[in-house]
Amino acid sequence: MSSKPCPSLPAVALIGAGPGDPELITLKAVRALAQADVVLIDDLVNPAVLEHCPNARVVRVGKRGGCRSTPQAFIHRLMLRYARQGKRVARLKGGDPCIFGRGQEEADWLASHGVSSQIINGITAGLAGATQCGISLTLRGVSRGVTLVTAHTQDDSSLNWPALAQSGTTLVVYMGVAKLSDIRAGLLAGGMRDDMPVAMIENATLPTQREYRSTLAEMQHTAAQVALQSPAVLVIGEVAAQDAQAVLPLAHSA
Ligand code: SAH
Repeated sequence: MSSKPCPSLPAVALIGAGPGDPELITLKAVRALAQADVVLIDDLVNPAVLEHCPNARVVRVGKRGGCRSTPQAFIHRLMLRYARQGKRVARLKGGDPCIFGRGQEEADWLASHGVSSQIINGITAGLAGATQCGISLTLRGVSRGVTLVTAHTQDDSSLNWPALAQSGTTLVVYMGVAKLSDIRAGLLAGGMRDDMPVAMIENATLPTQREYRSTLAEMQHTAAQVALQSPAVLVIGEVAAQDAQAVLPLAHSA
C-alpha cells in the first residue's frame, strides 16, 4: 500500500465567511481560521466568526476600516509580509472569495511572489439572501439559470443590457444600490418587460435583513421610499414573484 506524503499547508487561506449569519460558514473555513496566526478581515464579514480564531492577530483591512490609499495593494503587501515571516495567514472575505471578491486576483498575486494559497468557498450573498426571502434562484418551469452581475465596474464600462434582459435567467445584481437608475434604464432599453418582478434584499441573513418587492419599472421609486441601504442584492426575474410563506426565517443564535 502506498501512502501519499501529506501536502504542506498553503501559507495563505483565502476564506469566504458567508453572507452574514455567522453560522453560514463552512467547516473548512473554521478549521483554517483555527490554524491562523494572522487574520485579515474585510468590512462585510460578520466579526462574530472571529470566535473561531481567538488567538490570532486580527487586522481589519476593509475600505471602511481605515486603509486610505490603494487598499488592494496594501492588502497584497500585508499578506506577503506575514507569509514571509512564516505566519499562517487567513484572508477573510464576505460571501465567496471568487464572487466579486478578488479571491483569484489575490491568489495569482501571491503565486507570482512565490507564496502558496488556497481558496475556501463561502455562500454568496445573492444566493443566501434570495433563499431566505423564499426565492429559489432556479425553479423548474420558471427559471433555468442564474446570472450574477455587478453594476459596479472598474472602468465604468456598461453591461451588455440587451443580452442580460433577454437571457431568460434570473439576474442577481451585486453592488447595485447606487446604480438603480442605470440598471432599470439598461434592462428596459434591452427589452425586459417593465412589470418584471424585482426583490431587493438588504443585510441578507442577518437579524437586520429587510426585503422589498417591486417591479423593474418601479424599483428605483421603491428603493427611495424605503431608503434602501448597502449591502443589498437585487433579484430580477420571474422567480422574484415567489413569496416567503413556505420558508421559515433563519434562527439566529444569540
Ligand atoms: N464576495 C461577496 C460579494 C462582495 S461584493 C459575496 O460572495 O457575497 C459586495 C456586494 O455583495 C454588496 O454591495 C452587496 O451587493 C452584496 N452583499 C454582500 N453581503 C451582503 C448581505 N449580507 N446582504 C445583501 N447583499 C450583500
